[in-house]
Amino acid sequence: MAATWEVQYRRGINLPQIGWWLDAQSRMPRSFITHAHSDHVARHPEVICTPATARFLNARIPGRRLITELPFGRPHALEFGVIATLHPAGHILGSAQIHLESADHGTLLYTGDFKLRPGLAAESCATPRADVLIMETTFGLPRYVFPPEAEVIAQLIAFCRQALADGATPALFCYSLGKSQEVLRALTDANLPVMLQADTHRLTRIYQQLGMKFPPFDEFDARRVAGHVVICPSHAQGLLSRIPAVRTAAITGWALDPGAIYRLGCHAVFPLSDHADFPSLLRFVELVQPKRVFTTHGFAREFAATLRARGIDALALGHANQLEFALRQ
Ligand SMILES: [Zn+2]
Repeated sequence: MAATWEVQYRRGINLPQIGWWLDAQSRMPRSFITHAHSDHVARHPEVICTPATARFLNARIPGRRLITELPFGRPHALEFGVIATLHPAGHILGSAQIHLESADHGTLLYTGDFKLRPGLAAESCATPRADVLIMETTFGLPRYVFPPEAEVIAQLIAFCRQALADGATPALFCYSLGKSQEVLRALTDANLPVMLQADTHRLTRIYQQLGMKFPPFDEFDARRVAGHVVICPSHAQGLLSRIPAVRTAAITGWALDPGAIYRLGCHAVFPLSDHADFPSLLRFVELVQPKRVFTTHGFAREFAATLRARGIDALALGHANQLEFALRQ
């Protein structure tokens, strides 16, 4: 039987057999980057990513680096006879899963962040088969089942309309890259005037340059904000302090947690996520049909245990592996 993939976890995922990292969180000689969220990038001298991720990466972390831009579905030869192919992850525009194929080791799929739900501002998630699957499991507990997207969006629009009718300004807390653009597109049919925080505005312009269409929007201007919906990151406290009667809402999968309103410190929460929920995580594993699964992020240990209970060889990457090996004996 062919040797399988060796997967190491040291401040990021390392594949020692081929000398590449996957979304390393600190500077490494060379790393794949699945998408340009801050917990997946660092100042690596050499990276492979999609053309869209390269745009976002250069906008967020300027500097010199060697970037191999790999469009979805185009096979790329690495060393040691390994073929790398990027597939859509459905998380944000241009976000990729990395599929590796080797005569020696078989196939490996690393999801990065992903969601199976078709999003409004990202490509549809692919589910290529692989022998070894490394998957993010942010919402890897059974209680995380997201309601239908249309229902959440209708409630979000109702929240905005009510705030405006009350003379308040609705401020929607969204990550500047990905969530903001999905929410902006979700507001298209509502015909509400929208202002975007400066960084969100800059990234949304890049989405437009990459071909995505949006309803009209302006950059945030405190003097003209009355009557607008504001989309901004939750940490934009300076901006919020300049809005006289603000009514805040967080747009996040964590909205399902009891007490989320208090923990997130806002008036309302809406569970629209750019990650897979628990049923989607299980479905994804069914579709990929791996022989072995490594979990990472969020409830990784819990989800690995869920898979093992279903007869799938699964292990959480990171600190708890020794304990898990012990428990499995
Ligand atoms: Zn992400």
